[in-house]
Amino acid sequence: MRYSKLLIPTLREDPTEAEVVSHRLMLRAGMIRKVTAGIYNFLPVGFRVLSKVAKIVREEMEHAGAQEVLLPALQPAELWQETGRWKQYGKELMRLKDRHDREFCLGPTHEEVITDLVRREVKSYRQLPINLYQIQTKFRDEIRPRFGLMRGREFIMKDAYSFDMDPEGAKESYRKMYDAYHKIFSRLGLRFRAVEADTGLIGGSSSHEFMVLAQTGEEGIASCTKCDYAANVERAELKTGGRGPGIGEIKPLEQVKTPGKKSVEEVSSFLKITPQQLVKTLLFSADGRPVAVLVRGDHQVNEIKVKRLLGVSELVLADAGQVEAWSGGPSGFSGPVGLRNIEIIGDLSVEIMPEAIVGANEKDTHYLHASPGRDYKVDRFADLRNAIAGDLCPRCGAPMTIDRGIEVGHVFLLGTKYSETMKATFLDPKGEEQFFVMGCYGIGVSRIIAAAIEQNHDEKGIIWPMPIAPFAIHIIPVQDQSERVMITSELIYGSLVRAGIDTLIEDRSERAGVKFNDADLLGIPYQVVLGEKNLHEGVVEMKNRRTGEKQKIEVEKVIDYLIELVQGPRTQPAS
Ligand code: ATP
Ligand code: MG
Repeated sequence: MRYSKLLIPTLREDPTEAEVVSHRLMLRAGMIRKVTAGIYNFLPVGFRVLSKVAKIVREEMEHAGAQEVLLPALQPAELWQETGRWKQYGKELMRLKDRHDREFCLGPTHEEVITDLVRREVKSYRQLPINLYQIQTKFRDEIRPRFGLMRGREFIMKDAYSFDMDPEGAKESYRKMYDAYHKIFSRLGLRFRAVEADTGLIGGSSSHEFMVLAQTGEEGIASCTKCDYAANVERAELKTGGRGPGIGEIKPLEQVKTPGKKSVEEVSSFLKITPQQLVKTLLFSADGRPVAVLVRGDHQVNEIKVKRLLGVSELVLADAGQVEAWSGGPSGFSGPVGLRNIEIIGDLSVEIMPEAIVGANEKDTHYLHASPGRDYKVDRFADLRNAIAGDLCPRCGAPMTIDRGIEVGHVFLLGTKYSETMKATFLDPKGEEQFFVMGCYGIGVSRIIAAAIEQNHDEKGIIWPMPIAPFAIHIIPVQDQSERVMITSELIYGSLVRAGIDTLIEDRSERAGVKFNDADLLGIPYQVVLGEKNLHEGVVEMKNRRTGEKQKIEVEKVIDYLIELVQGPRTQPAS
């Protein structure tokens, strides 16, 4: 394609609205433009990338036996009322009314619609298993739409739904999708990990998230340094053994003044100890009743694990008034010693601490040498925290590392959750009615673009992995007044296009510096630079955008060279 004919409104300056690099670069490279919070236009370059991602996703879904459908974005409230999600989904659901005052929503996901379709059209076990997918716009009224395509209110998702006759079949369908996802993210040219994900209160069923590794990722991933175990830091099961850190011998409980020191950092630096020698006490309202959760100073409470242990659905950090009422002291100084009428639960790593520093439920006061069993009672110990670097792998016991990632895909074994509430059944071989056993599988098609850029960029711009690059080759004639330069450029361009290679030719009359800067910003994998001087010597210069390496190639050989570079070596006919 010709640069001069394409709408590529690049920006020289960083747009102020963008906080993360992918958002900034997508705006600067003229790929997207904001319409309103969380809603974007895709411009030609952005749309080309989106289409390439979608094509790979589509090919692998078909290959795995899934069939493409297109379901409506506009969905009647009745279906959502059947599953109870009309209420549960809350404010994230975009709701609207038609002219007759009937309620609708814009689909954030399609379990209801697909289950309704399948319960009406699939009647017999002979039609199973079946997997239906679509690539479509989804709507979620996110509290904080941000980071451009990363968290939009309108975005493109691939969602697939499998229906099986029994749990074993469903597991097999799940495994097929899990494998297909591996192929998809490998083919996209991204570094990723599949991690065990939390299934929330449903528990038990399988769920994996696919994470693109990037330092800027919102999610923490704990990975074993030895085996292939990887899990979301919130999900990783943690075991603890041995003896935890303490401050030496177990001495009698002692009060110390810690004026104005509330946070772990403040208290530990004031007392000249490490956060590992401290136990934090967090008070929560769990379905309305007070609960104290104890974790080591350097650990974070994992609310999902706490909820699961307590079997509650709502867990909210106590406000200042509740802390005062339940502990008798101000917030920032809570501790387990003397706490009454409150269930106290502790993390496993607290159990093995012989003694620790804790809050004294009194302003500006802490206790030294608080020892569980002697000075306070813990009702239950369990795994209640997020993983940190150095924690041991639950599978093989080797230390784990923590990486950051961006969730780009999610596979989920649903079981009969939707088929039961929506009474979706088929007839089994005995002629008996059974509920479909389901799975659902999402990929954030538009989020992948942002994730790819977070993982692949430098200070000059984007560095596209070849499979999703908007173009494979960028031809840059430097002196556009030179006949020789322009004729040779057009010749190479024409040949590449005929060979089916996505090629961009820079045919604007701009200064060389502008052309080079825009080329680096756009991030097309190979730049072919044509200038008078080089052509006089019979060569053109080729730059690899990722490595920055430049090499000179003879003009006569350059077309074959580029075709092979992009399409791989041509197989020789057998002679
Ligand atoms: P998140 O935790 O990031 O909100 P989710 O768990 O709500 O994601 P799913 O419901 O599993 O996401 O959706 C499937 C995929 O759709 C996600 O893996 C993600 O890649 C993508 N996705 C979800 N929400 C958004 C959004 N607001 N904008 C862009 N992509 C999204
Ligand atoms: Mg979400």
